[in-house]
Amino acid sequence: KLSARLIQIAERLPKGCKLADIGSDHALLPVYAVKNGLALSAVAGEVNEGPLKAAQQQVAQAGLTSSIAVRKGDGLAVVGPGEVDTITIAGMGGALIASILEAGQEKLAGVHTLVLQPNVGEDLVRRWLLRHEWALTEESILEEDGKIYEILTARRLPDSTGFNAQLYAPRALPGSEMKLTEELLLLLGPWLIKEPDAVWFEKWHGEIKQLERIRSSVSSSSHEASRVKEQELAELARQLTEVM
Ligand code: SAM
Repeated sequence: KLSARLIQIAERLPKGCKLADIGSDHALLPVYAVKNGLALSAVAGEVNEGPLKAAQQQVAQAGLTSSIAVRKGDGLAVVGPGEVDTITIAGMGGALIASILEAGQEKLAGVHTLVLQPNVGEDLVRRWLLRHEWALTEESILEEDGKIYEILTARRLPDSTGFNAQLYAPRALPGSEMKLTEELLLLLGPWLIKEPDAVWFEKWHGEIKQLERIRSSVSSSSHEASRVKEQELAELARQLTEVM
């Protein structure tokens, strides 16, 4: 059975899309998407031999070799220009997701939807989208098997730049004096923070605790650089505590 995380990612796909799933591992997502009519066709990309084999087996077992192409390659190298209109990249760090998008920019020309699920470093993905004029149109957060995941959906809108300018415009946090700057919105999620749910609060309670642990280890060092770092961390924890 498909994980709740992958099901939620699949639910973000525009019906009838031409999908590329990068870092597909067992190709569970493209198989589900094609089986359920969410995607018409799919490319499952994998850079590593083991997961590539697993993807080939999975697609063959599902009888979908005519609609899902399993290809070996780094990031977006596995798709031809204009071949797909929707890309999913899930289950890796935000820095890697951003670097895959950055390296594959010419492959994004005909793509209208990105569904991205970084395991960490969500802010790096949001920042990449913002800088490259993708409109962040939806965010969701879920917990599964004790882990918390965020799913970011981005589209090309006629005025993505204007859309994002509004989305990331510094705003006041309702019921507080605190100002949410672009920096904080990139970190916390401009949509998630509009209606923060229990999972979001759990995530940031955890992050604050971790920041405090880091802070106490940094403050035992006397270097000037780490004192600066300590102050930054203290400020971040203070701001997050205010948001909550
Ligand atoms: N996307 C699946 C999911 O969310 O369940 C699998 C996630 S798995 C943890 C990450 C996969 O990405 C691995 O199978 C790894 O081989 C693959 N990967 C890592 N870097 C990659 C790259 N640059 N291009 C393609 N695949 C990559």
